[in-house]
Amino acid sequence: MKCYKHQDIDAIGLCKSCHKGVCPECSALVGGSVACAESCQEDVAALNYMVERGKKVYKNLGKQWGPSVIINGVGGAFFLSFGIYNFGRISSWLLIGLGAIMIVGGIMSAVQGKRMGEKKI
Ligand SMILES: [Zn+2]
Ligand SMILES: [Zn+2]
Repeated sequence: MKCYKHQDIDAIGLCKSCHKGVCPECSALVGGSVACAESCQEDVAALNYMVERGKKVYKNLGKQWGPSVIINGVGGAFFLSFGIYNFGRISSWLLIGLGAIMIVGGIMSAVQGKRMGEKKI
């Protein structure tokens, strides 16, 4: 592949914004990405910024909904099995109900977190 401007010089990479081949002379490194020195430096910088921000948002999202899903799931399963284990006693239905609510809550927050993550990316 040759440089988009210099047809006799080999390109060293593709511009991250317009995907044209660029030679060392025509390229600029923006945050570790190749960009056209002339036209795309700002675009690539903005692109990198957006990707970085998306990554951060996704990470934070994972932190936010991850623990609540685990706590609800594990706690719900614990209450549920405890209720089934003590089946026949008055409190068993209370435990089963509580466990079911926690598991449903865990599933709901998992679905919500997943949806939000997909939207942001
Ligand atoms: Zn470009
Ligand atoms: Zn060139």
